[in-house]
Amino acid sequence: MAYRAVNPYNGKLIKEFAPSTDTEVEEALTAAENFYQNAKKQSFEQRAKQLAALAAEFTKNCDYYARFITTNMGKLINDAQAEVKKTAAFAQYYVDHGAAALANQDYSASAKQPAHLEFSSIGAIVAVEPWNFPYTQVMRVFAPNFILGNPVILKHASIVPECANAFEEACQTAEIPTGAFKNLFASYDQVTTMISDARVQGVALTGSEKAGAKIAAAAGKNIKKSTMELGGTDVCVILDDADLNKAVVGAAKGRLNNSGQVCTAAKRYLVQSGIYDDFLAELKQEFAKYQPGNPLDENTTLAPLSSKSAQKTLQQQVKDVLAGGAKVLWGDPTPVSGPGAFFNPLIISGMKFDNPMYDQELFGPVAQLYRVTDEADILRIANHSNYGLGGAIYSENLPAARALAAKIETGQVAINQPLSSIPELPFGGVKHSGYGRELSDLGIREFANIKTILG
Ligand code: NAP
Repeated sequence: MAYRAVNPYNGKLIKEFAPSTDTEVEEALTAAENFYQNAKKQSFEQRAKQLAALAAEFTKNCDYYARFITTNMGKLINDAQAEVKKTAAFAQYYVDHGAAALANQDYSASAKQPAHLEFSSIGAIVAVEPWNFPYTQVMRVFAPNFILGNPVILKHASIVPECANAFEEACQTAEIPTGAFKNLFASYDQVTTMISDARVQGVALTGSEKAGAKIAAAAGKNIKKSTMELGGTDVCVILDDADLNKAVVGAAKGRLNNSGQVCTAAKRYLVQSGIYDDFLAELKQEFAKYQPGNPLDENTTLAPLSSKSAQKTLQQQVKDVLAGGAKVLWGDPTPVSGPGAFFNPLIISGMKFDNPMYDQELFGPVAQLYRVTDEADILRIANHSNYGLGGAIYSENLPAARALAAKIETGQVAINQPLSSIPELPFGGVKHSGYGRELSDLGIREFANIKTILG
């Protein structure tokens, strides 16, 4: 595939990048192995200082890095700046807490059998990352593995090559040691070759279920550790006792943020009968506030999709959704013409389990609405999914909301707020949303050798 930066706002080609050669792949693997061996002689704390410099670089030059996000994949400039700040925060979390999470841990079986755990590096990790959060997704993998002593080789999404280069540039500016991070404009075959290389000991993929299945299979074939952060069809449950305004604003933001291109977006609203009509009436007004425009303009509230190809895919998906029996409650399903990759937000209802599009991830500003009665009805729909990433619940009865959250089959559920990633908290899914956890103390141990020492 070609690594090309095309501005999704106007369709203009910004720059095309040459694919990495096999020689460059080999050089990256050699440099990674050298870093891995050298890092064993260093302490975690030494690398924490270097990672702090990387966090500082993103913070200092936030606007510079943010612009690449907006021009490569269309994110609103304010949100792009927020992403750069979050990228720095993810790094800073591991600066502050990484070494402590890797400290030896007493694991004595009994007084007669003392034992402890030690955490150490295992080798290079290949990171295959998506375009929707072009820096935070990379930092989630790089920061913990760098502290641990695992080098990271990046294969980024082909539509955000300037972001991939900018991340590498930030590492160079921060004087991250050679071999610790390398971006390659790699082909799928080169990714598979790297996974089979003895110097690579793990692969972290964030992306679609389809890509996850391919990369997990390659990892399995080569007995390499993998983590999979895949898609979702998260529910946003609005209970009768919800604060209506909070629920409407949160639900709309949860679906329209990043133009709906978020793995944990509120893709299915399950609204209890008593609040349904009021919620829908206010939701329409809230959706109408999101207005498309130039994402570099700070006043724009709805970004284009990431590419013309994403626009075309979603147009076809919506066509299939409607052909399958669903209907549009609000919004104009007519495809948006012009060079930009815009997509009109839609609220649809009538999605049934026998609709062929049920349980397909709609990666854009399309909300599905379901009227639900009681807890059994909510769980019947919420858990009728091959995915299991996240979810949200709006209710003023916190104990009841928490009890419901415990029954939703996903990796995380947010109460009275849109779901978002926070450095201190584990993030990941179950079922076809993947496995493994990123962020927090759990994230730094995914690619660690957890060694038991007896005696
Ligand atoms: P994608 O098409 O699966 O691509 C993700 C990455 O995988 C890209 O770098 C892509 O490269 C690469 N890739 C795809 N097939 C490959 C193969 N056979 N071999 C090697 N690399 C391969 O997904 P996307 O459209 O970029 O991202 C959207 C998806 O990511 C959604 O499903 C979303 O829910 C999910 N996501 C999940 C999380 C999470 O934390 N769970 C976070 C963000 C996004 P190319 O670009 O070159 O094809």
